[in-house]
Amino acid sequence: MILVLEQNVGIEQISELISRLEAMGLKAVMSRGTGRTNLAVIRGVDKTTRPELFTHLPLVEEVIPFRHKFKLTSRDFQQEKTIIEMDGVNIGDGSLVVMAGPCAIESRQQILEIAEKVAAEGASVLRGGAFKPRTSPYDFQGLGEEGLKYMREAAKLHGLLSISEVMTPEDVPLVSSYVDILQIGARNMQNFALLRAAGECKKPVLLKRGLSATYLEFILAAEYTVSCGNPNVILCERGIRTFDTYTRNTLDLTAVPVLQEMTHLPIIVDPSHGTGLRHLVPPMSKAAMAVGADGIIVEVHTDPDAAVSDAQQTICPMTFATMMKDLRALGSVTGMPMREAR
Ligand code: PEP
Ligand code: MN
Repeated sequence: MILVLEQNVGIEQISELISRLEAMGLKAVMSRGTGRTNLAVIRGVDKTTRPELFTHLPLVEEVIPFRHKFKLTSRDFQQEKTIIEMDGVNIGDGSLVVMAGPCAIESRQQILEIAEKVAAEGASVLRGGAFKPRTSPYDFQGLGEEGLKYMREAAKLHGLLSISEVMTPEDVPLVSSYVDILQIGARNMQNFALLRAAGECKKPVLLKRGLSATYLEFILAAEYTVSCGNPNVILCERGIRTFDTYTRNTLDLTAVPVLQEMTHLPIIVDPSHGTGLRHLVPPMSKAAMAVGADGIIVEVHTDPDAAVSDAQQTICPMTFATMMKDLRALGSVTGMPMREAR
C-alpha cells in the first residue's frame, strides 16, 4: 500500500505516523523523492488488506495499492530517479559514469598501472575483482584482501572511486571497508542472504543481472537489498544467455529503457561481459550511452592478452582512450554528457 501524504508535512509528524503504523504491526518506508512524500507499507499487509484501514490516519491524503510485486524500487512509490551521490561522483544524474579496470586484480603494479591509464582518460571508478566467481575451481580465484589493499591504494592515488565484487554475506564488511561500491555478480543475483547483507551495508551496491533473469526477477533481487535498508542500488545489464554462441552473452539493451520505466534505480551497462569480445566493447558502449544508460563498466588491461581472466573481452588503454573520446562526442549529441573525473 502506498500512503500519499498531505503536502508540507514535517518530518516529526511523519515519524509519528511511522511509529503509529509500527504499533499496528506494520512496517513503513518513506520515499526519498523531492515531490510528494509517500510512505510504502511493506510488511503486515496483503491482498486482503483494505485501503480504508489507512484512510482515516492523520496526514494520509490518498491510499494506493501497489500494482507490482516490487514496491520500494517502483516508480509508483518514487517517481524521481534515484541519484547516488558519492564523493564527487553522482550516478543517475543524467551523466554517463565510466567504471573501468581489469577483470581481476593481479598484482599491485598491475592495478596501479591500469588505474593511472583509466584515470587519465576520464574514468571515475576503478573496477577490479579480488574475489572472483570462476566457472572452474582450478582457475585463478582472486587475491582476496591483499588485492583490495592494492586497489584502494591505486584508486586513492589517481582520484578514483572503487568497485569490487563480494561473493558471500560474511565478506560484506571486509569488502565494504576497502571499496566505495560493492558489486554483486550475475551468478549471485539471487543469493538472497547476500542481497540482505548488502542491504545492511551503507555503501552503494551494483547488482548485475543474472545469466537468465527476467526483468521482474532482477528488480525483485534489488528489492531485497533496498527493503533491508540500503536504497543505493545500481542495476547492471551485463548480457544474458541465449541460443547464440558467437558472442559470450547477448547484451540486452532493451533492459535500459524498460528498467528505467519500471524502477527509479540507476542502470548501467557492462559491454565487456555482455559481448565477451573486445572489438564489440566500443560500439556497444556507444549504444549504451545512446539508449540512456547511467554508466558503463568496462574491462581494461595494459596487456589484455596476458590478463588472467576475461582476456578476450578486455580492451587496451589505447582503445579505451579512443572510446572515451567517441563517448564525449556522442554525449554532446545525446545531451547526456560523460561525467568527467573528480
Ligand atoms: C566481473 O565483473 O568480472 C564479473 C564476474 O561479472 P559478472 O558477474 O557479470 O559475470
Ligand atoms: Mn570479468
